[in-house]
Amino acid sequence: MESRGSCWNCKIQTEIVEFRCKTCKRIQKVGKTDPYEIFSLKKKYLIDYEELETKYFQLQNIFHPDKFVNSTNEEKEISVIESSNINNAYNLLANNVDRIKILIKSKGLKIKSDLEKTFSNKSLLEEIMDLQDKCMSIENDKEKKKIKMEIKGQIKNVELKINEHFEKRKFSEAENLGVKLSYLEKINKNLG
Ligand SMILES: [Zn+2]
Repeated sequence: MESRGSCWNCKIQTEIVEFRCKTCKRIQKVGKTDPYEIFSLKKKYLIDYEELETKYFQLQNIFHPDKFVNSTNEEKEISVIESSNINNAYNLLANNVDRIKILIKSKGLKIKSDLEKTFSNKSLLEEIMDLQDKCMSIENDKEKKKIKMEIKGQIKNVELKINEHFEKRKFSEAENLGVKLSYLEKINKNLG
């Protein structure tokens, strides 16, 4: 992790290694707001969770406030802000539905409201209601297991489809399928 940048303390262009100024060794800001960029991940819908987690721990290892107990106030402040940004970015990227919103936003497109997405998709609502009915009438563990398997399979398929839409730059379709994904995940979670 090396780059050149201007250090807030030295006020000169300098080499920055692992987010520290090579001259004064002070911690520097991450300087990014896009979660994919914070973790230097390729902007794809399907991500490598292990890679995300590894990079998350690397960054928290650098920025965690515990490491700045004896540092200057400026550095303490940077560590608190950046470590909370890193946490937020991690949680967003780890969420299959939030990742859709991040990608749409980073394309400079406007995010649709939930209402817009739902109204544009009546058959989806019926499909979801059927699935909810099915879950309500589960009678035993065996049935529950079967339905959970079914839902997990559906979630996987929807994720692949969303990824395909993004690759084909069909952003609106990807966003609409995100509604289905969030319903499926909610139902799956409620099943316990
Ligand atoms: Zn410096």
